[in-house]
Amino acid sequence: MTKGKIIKALSGFYYVLAGDQIVQCRGRGVFRKKNIHPLVGDYVTFQAENEQEGYIMAIEPRKNELTRPPIANIDQGILVFSAKEPDFNTLLLDRFLSVVEANNIHPIICMTKIDLLLEEERKQLDRYVEDYRTIGYDVILVSALTGEGIDQLLPHIDSKVSVLAGQSGVGKSSLLNALRPELDLKTGHISSHLGRGKHTTRHVELLQIGEGLVADTPGFSSLEFPEMEEAELGRAFPEIFAASASCKFRRCLHVNEPGCAVIKSVEEGDICLYRYEHYKKFLEEIKERKPRY
Ligand code: GDP
Ligand code: ZN
Repeated sequence: MTKGKIIKALSGFYYVLAGDQIVQCRGRGVFRKKNIHPLVGDYVTFQAENEQEGYIMAIEPRKNELTRPPIANIDQGILVFSAKEPDFNTLLLDRFLSVVEANNIHPIICMTKIDLLLEEERKQLDRYVEDYRTIGYDVILVSALTGEGIDQLLPHIDSKVSVLAGQSGVGKSSLLNALRPELDLKTGHISSHLGRGKHTTRHVELLQIGEGLVADTPGFSSLEFPEMEEAELGRAFPEIFAASASCKFRRCLHVNEPGCAVIKSVEEGDICLYRYEHYKKFLEEIKERKPRY
């Protein structure tokens, strides 16, 4: 019996990465009976039939799973935002950040198309970057066109399973392509085996990039908050969560409660006003339970 990770699912086969081998496996009948479906990202135990083929015998418990795309055990969401075209928008970034955080997935922020910025625009973007870094987020600035910053993104991808997320047109495909020369260099025969472009059927695949795995399909296209209590939203804003430890009431929503430490931090300028405004906006949405896209 060997352990590995499913990196691709296609036509009833699961492609399991074990060391530097990829073994084409079938699921055992028992999965179908129990209505358990192996997912890309699953850690599995398989019985090898020969060097290339085998049977999946067991699936290890998942730490999380997404339905779109169907992937398990995601370590992080790389939130892709363009600095320009479309313009950077903090409301949308905060929406992505808090939805990803509410799904217990670690976000990192990747700003693309920085080659398009004029000097003044770059200064404005740098102020936002500073705000988010102060909160504790990793913010990476890249250009898929010039390749700038790609080397700073790679270490964040290493030894993790990442899903890219972001609006259409921000540059997710271009970013994956900019990362791919590295893939081809480092993984040799495996990369050609996993080559994109040969897709005939829609499927999900984890691409080996550097020492990490990145989903070839973006996730979080619908930005709905999961089922959650209003009081839980604060956890999805790390600086609000940190300040809330000093709020007078344990289930403080930080709107107008007396003794609210979050409101005090906003007034003193320790929490960005726009972040707080976005928090209140999302709080209203969760109250109304309106679906959001
Ligand atoms: P996706 O929809 O998020 O996958 O976005 P694409 O990768 O298709 O990119 C959308 C458009 O932005 C395309 O015309 C790309 O050529 C362009 N683009 C993507 N990345 C960059 C970049 O870093 N710099 C510039 N100048 N253009 C870019
Ligand atoms: Zn409070």
